Amino acid sequence: MLFHPEIEAILAPDLRAHQERLWRRQWDHVREDSGFYRAKFGSSARRAATLDSLADLPLTDKDELRASQEQMPPYGDYVAAPPERIIRLHRTSGTTGRGMIVALGRADADIVAALGARAYWAAGLRPGDRVIHCLNYCLWTGGVTDHLILEATGATVVPFGVGYTPLLLRTMIELGVNAISCTPSYPALLEQVLRQELGMEPRELKLRLGLFAGEAGLDNPDFRLGLEERWGFAARNANFGMSEVMSVMGSQCEATNDLHFHCGDAVFAELLDPATGARLPIADGTTGELVCTNLDKEVQPLVRYRTRDIVTVTGAGPCACGRAAWRFRIAGRTDDMFNVRGVNMFPTAVQAVLRTHPALTSGECRVVLAGPGPYDRIAARAEAAESLSPQDWPAAKARLEAAIKSAIGAGAAIEIVPFGSLPRTAGKTSLVERK
Ligand SMILES: [Zn+2]
Repeated sequence: MLFHPEIEAILAPDLRAHQERLWRRQWDHVREDSGFYRAKFGSSARRAATLDSLADLPLTDKDELRASQEQMPPYGDYVAAPPERIIRLHRTSGTTGRGMIVALGRADADIVAALGARAYWAAGLRPGDRVIHCLNYCLWTGGVTDHLILEATGATVVPFGVGYTPLLLRTMIELGVNAISCTPSYPALLEQVLRQELGMEPRELKLRLGLFAGEAGLDNPDFRLGLEERWGFAARNANFGMSEVMSVMGSQCEATNDLHFHCGDAVFAELLDPATGARLPIADGTTGELVCTNLDKEVQPLVRYRTRDIVTVTGAGPCACGRAAWRFRIAGRTDDMFNVRGVNMFPTAVQAVLRTHPALTSGECRVVLAGPGPYDRIAARAEAAESLSPQDWPAAKARLEAAIKSAIGAGAAIEIVPFGSLPRTAGKTSLVERK
């Protein structure tokens, strides 16, 4: 059963026709109402645009939006509606530089809620479920906007936010909560507190669904299986998105480990070759940077926005779940991409190999890039596993280097560092160190 069967099951050609209709209207809105885009596109703004000719327009970078907001606070001059049309604003967590202001109109907020609900529904949430939402409600979209998305599925939503872990656990028991929405790293803390304070095991909470957001942890099958075994719930990555484009764009369904791109009727996705910028087909095996264009957005419409996420298409035809939307995996970030002997690589791939050897390493690592590259091998620092004694480090180094060589095909030089010596941060940690 699909949340929006009339759109989720339609095949690519029909979806494309629908997207073209939406884009004709959106293009008129952008070129008439957004000062930023009128100036950026110049004479191109006079053209009638199709989704094919979109490829001739320049890309939009996050730095441009940031500059626009600095010059014209708070919304920037890419805003395409007057202030009285704006009903909600968020600030994004700025890992680099200052956070961005995201503004939504009534229709924008309704679309975000409906399409996000489509994604959470695909991940398994249903009316009658009681889901506790444990993301930060202070300013950012993961809080109240994702809360409203959860509600839009028809499920009963308990607003909790972050912190107060013992109270959270007591509340879950008291209210008979059967689903949790949080980051993938949170259950580890919950387990600890559950055992210490309540003397209970995770399975005793009888959750049926774990809906995860904000971190890539679930891409690691061992991590996901371990979580499902200890908790007895189905663990799903339910929330791939970026607030400036669309809060929730992708989620896993019950039939695949990959993410569905759920929002084809609101966001036009392009994949671009990271080296040449050429548009690539959305076909099985294609890897490219995800570039997004809003098709139906009033207040802060974006055109050809560079997400800096490099994605690999893992399924372009219909899925066993009945959805036609293409599937993908995150390969890495363009900021982190590096080149070894002519091949593009991502630190996340290095980390994925390390994580298959929990007896040797904690999996925390940094790829070290000395100079501009290209490089002749992968240089990385990897933390020893907590139980590994220093006399075993040389053997661990050799085994990890061999594992990377066989999995990624590039030579590696690993430096083993003590457990706990690489900083953990609450947000997204960069796995790259440049020297
Ligand atoms: Zn599916």
